[in-house]
Amino acid sequence: MPLEILTIPCLSDNYAYAVCDTETGEVAVIDVPDATPILRTLAFKGWGLNQILITHHHDDHIAGLETLKAAIDAPVVGAKADMHRLPQLELGVEQGDVFALGNQTVCVYEVYGHTVGHVAYYFPEANALFTGDSLMVMGCGRLFEGDAETMWRSLTTLMELPPETRIYSGHEYTAANAKFALSVDPENKALIERTQRISEMRARGDDTMGSTLALEMATNPFLLAGNAEAFADIRKRKDAF
Ligand code: ZN
Ligand code: FE
Repeated sequence: MPLEILTIPCLSDNYAYAVCDTETGEVAVIDVPDATPILRTLAFKGWGLNQILITHHHDDHIAGLETLKAAIDAPVVGAKADMHRLPQLELGVEQGDVFALGNQTVCVYEVYGHTVGHVAYYFPEANALFTGDSLMVMGCGRLFEGDAETMWRSLTTLMELPPETRIYSGHEYTAANAKFALSVDPENKALIERTQRISEMRARGDDTMGSTLALEMATNPFLLAGNAEAFADIRKRKDAF
């Protein structure tokens, strides 16, 4: 079942996503860093808005909510655990919750570590996973409200998804992430090739989202860590890189 996915650059390096279940025309926006480019995209496509899905409470993922809702109102979905500090949330979700966007199934994964109350949205029929600042293309989010063990647990849960799952994260950090990855794993052939492709994509002005889980598992140093202790070590090295 086709899900059309648009990556919308916002602020300096954030991404919002607009996704449309093409059979029913239902549309969701994932994260709202800035309403203006999102509204421009929806208008350009002639899309309405049925749901607003929030990955976590950080300002760079919600700053445009009020303006977006004033222009086109739609229910705001986010982590139940964040409802106390995100009064904009109207529907709280938690691990294992399943809801629908048109004919698409949406599965909720709690992926704590970057924050407590961080969720990822998985669209199984479309093989698409919206990870916010948890698993990121070639990287992972910093540990602001969780420890390394928590983030490692979140990443291992995501690694159980099908290898063809496409990863859409909250920021375009991929080129910098690749540079760090090479410093950790300089002999990794898949990584060397991928780094080359990433710099070509960025030189063309393309985004690097929609990477596959299989590719991440072969090249993302955080997924290659293998256990929580090694993950903690790599996360510390990245913080200082
Ligand atoms: Zn964040
Ligand atoms: Fe962020």
